[in-house]
Amino acid sequence: MTAPTPLPNLFDLRLAECEALAVGLGVKPFHGRNLFKWLHKHGVTDFDAMSDLPKSWRERLREVTRLELPRIIADHPSADGTVKWVLELHDGQRVETVCIPEGRRRTLCVSSQVGCALNCAFCATAQQGFNRNLTVSEIIGQVWHAARQLDQPLTNVVLMGMGEPLANFDAVIAALEIMQDDLAYMLAKHRVTVSTSGVVPNIYRLREVSNVSLAVSLHAPTDALRDELMPINRKYPLAQLLPACKAYLGRDPRRKITWEYVMLDGVNDSLTHAKQLIRLLEGIPSKLNLIPFNPFTGSTFATSPPERVEAFRLRLTGAGIFAMTRKTRGDEIAAACGQLVGRVNDRTRRVAVPVVN
Ligand code: SAH
Repeated sequence: MTAPTPLPNLFDLRLAECEALAVGLGVKPFHGRNLFKWLHKHGVTDFDAMSDLPKSWRERLREVTRLELPRIIADHPSADGTVKWVLELHDGQRVETVCIPEGRRRTLCVSSQVGCALNCAFCATAQQGFNRNLTVSEIIGQVWHAARQLDQPLTNVVLMGMGEPLANFDAVIAALEIMQDDLAYMLAKHRVTVSTSGVVPNIYRLREVSNVSLAVSLHAPTDALRDELMPINRKYPLAQLLPACKAYLGRDPRRKITWEYVMLDGVNDSLTHAKQLIRLLEGIPSKLNLIPFNPFTGSTFATSPPERVEAFRLRLTGAGIFAMTRKTRGDEIAAACGQLVGRVNDRTRRVAVPVVN
């Protein structure tokens, strides 16, 4: 016997799909639009409160659809204003979402998978192994909750939480669309950033369907070193990654790739590495984001001393590459880059999962 198919979750739907649902159930598309607005712009999940939807349609929605979001089960505020929320999914697994206030900005760092399959040597999420992709509602649900929890609107979203967003392509694209929708979270394209470890074919696909900013976890200027730190480099080496990034920018002179570079003591942080990096990025409009390594239990790397990070940064800026050092935020609540772990049931699925879907 097969399990009954669950009812469609309204939080999985983009605007066009809400409109199609309305039409499919015999009402006008604008009712679908209003439904979408209730769910995302107003954060309302009670059909009774959706006063401008036909009553009979609301009854029908109650019967044939469901409204399911992840649940916040813990919130960890940090002294610096960063907050980490732990969200539990319907199957008991957990992912983490972090909100980082900075001046007038409130940036939400969103997860895209339960765990991660990529196994980067310096990342705590990697140690969790991989279980599954998040659904659209589980990704947008993080934004939904943050929007409800905060007094002021979110200004930026970065897909830099747990998981590799470009290995969960379809759900991530749909969630990006909802984030950017004027009837939902209204985030302009330069306020939404997808960060990838370098899933090359999907960088090309992303260019076809989205206009968000792209950040790439580089972490090493040569294939030899990158192979060691990030196994994905063996599949998509620098000679493939860099042209894909260039292609992503197209001809828009205002766009840049943000390169993330975790500073690992004695591993990738010398001036020779800086020079190699400068040569590597020649001709690509770039911003460098240097991330001091955030340690976690069981990690074997150490954080580069601040003077070395600064010397590295100055070498880059001296060569005309804009480089800044990312401030470590929320580390005492294990909310900093690379520290998110959640709860991954059955971590053994790592090897069974293809990187590209
Ligand atoms: N999988 C995507 C999204 C994760 S973004 C990607 O790789 O880009 C999280 C960023 O933090 C990545 O740049 C990641 O390489 C970096 N990171 C991972 N572990 C870290 C650590 N321990 N300290 C600092 N940065 C880390």
